[in-house]
Amino acid sequence: MQHHLLSTKFFEKAKHMIPGGVNSPVRACKSVGAEPIFVEYGSGSWIWDVDGNSYLDFVCSWGPLILGHCHPEVVTAVKKAAETGSSFGIPTWNEVKLAEMIVQAVPSIEKVRLVNSGTEATMSAVRLARGYTGRKKIIKFNGCYHGHADSFLVKAGSGVATLGIPGSPGVPEEIVQNTVAVPFNDKKILQEVLDKEGDDVACIIVEPVPANMGVVLPDDDFLPFLRKITEDRGIVLIFDEVITGFRLSLGGAQDYFDIMPDLTCLGKIIGGGLPVGAYGGRSEIMDHIAPDGPVYQAGTLSGNPIATAAGIKTLEILSRPGTYESLQNKMDYLAEELKVLGKKYGIKCTIQKVASMMTCFFGQDGPIKNFDQASKSDTEFYGKYFRQMLQNGVYIAPSQFEAAFVSLAHSWDDLDFAIEATESSFKVLA
Ligand SMILES: *Cc1c(COP(=O)(O)O)cnc(C)c1O
Repeated sequence: MQHHLLSTKFFEKAKHMIPGGVNSPVRACKSVGAEPIFVEYGSGSWIWDVDGNSYLDFVCSWGPLILGHCHPEVVTAVKKAAETGSSFGIPTWNEVKLAEMIVQAVPSIEKVRLVNSGTEATMSAVRLARGYTGRKKIIKFNGCYHGHADSFLVKAGSGVATLGIPGSPGVPEEIVQNTVAVPFNDKKILQEVLDKEGDDVACIIVEPVPANMGVVLPDDDFLPFLRKITEDRGIVLIFDEVITGFRLSLGGAQDYFDIMPDLTCLGKIIGGGLPVGAYGGRSEIMDHIAPDGPVYQAGTLSGNPIATAAGIKTLEILSRPGTYESLQNKMDYLAEELKVLGKKYGIKCTIQKVASMMTCFFGQDGPIKNFDQASKSDTEFYGKYFRQMLQNGVYIAPSQFEAAFVSLAHSWDDLDFAIEATESSFKVLA
């Protein structure tokens, strides 16, 4: 039987000094009726907490660790980079190398600017879209999460959805007025909004496969529709590929679905577990950024030598033959077995997946196509499932509205371990 004595002690202490005891809200595990575990170390697909319990990890740092924890080649690259200087504020060759890998892999990106997080990437991309078009309004989709910049905290996904926060205090009304949130996969409502205010809209920003309300797939004609209406009206189409970039394929969701956005935001995987974000697109738009153009965006640690070393090595490993097939096969196997278990124990759930990410929406007959539908999931059941899985040695996201990620480090034995843990959990909960 597990105990979490040290984790509990650390959390108590943390709460005295850090708001909620955590540096990012979802880590607090509130919505699943648990307290956070404190991690001591990770290796491959496993993590160990400070009380000595081990867990098979399907959070993988919320997406970045597509190679698993402490991939030896990444560790070596990071060590080497640290020994030659951690930051200069002067250009380094690593920045050019990572930029080149991104430009080569992601079809719509001709030029790319490196930043430090997904949030920086999305807020900079929106500023650029506004500067480029001279328009103010932006359109986003309910349940999509684009980081925590002011303009995006309207009907947002991820922790905002988990905690049930509709908007956020501290974001002025004047800013929110310029953000229009519409349902995902709903062409009609979007068309109506555009007919009314299309001339004021600078950009539409979208997760091409939303993963922050749980994994939701775009209808076949939805992304092509977005591409067409934005093109017709001179609106910048931004794909927020912070999760899907280098996850769905080397070229991200745009390559997977063959739809080219004007701008793309990246993060998570491109830092290989260290803080890196990026935004890029056609040169004609990117040339509006300072110092070539007037749209200002900067960063003391942007293109950091250690972070880019981790990113470069990660992308290099991902580009080896067979990686995405292997990830896909493992995800398919896991999802199929979970489906069988759901049936066997009479647990109503809808599994949605693409490439190596998936969500199991409990209490649903599916398919889940938007945030309204996702919200109807049985979050209380999810909380119980989370706690059972934790006891059974599997760490899944402490929220129904997130994805489970399979990494290259997950072995077939690991997957069988997870399937057995699920069976034990379902037995108790059925
Ligand atoms: C995680 C995420 C972000 C924010 O990235 P941070 O690095 O947490 O700032 C933005 N967009 C999407 C789609 C994300 O999943």
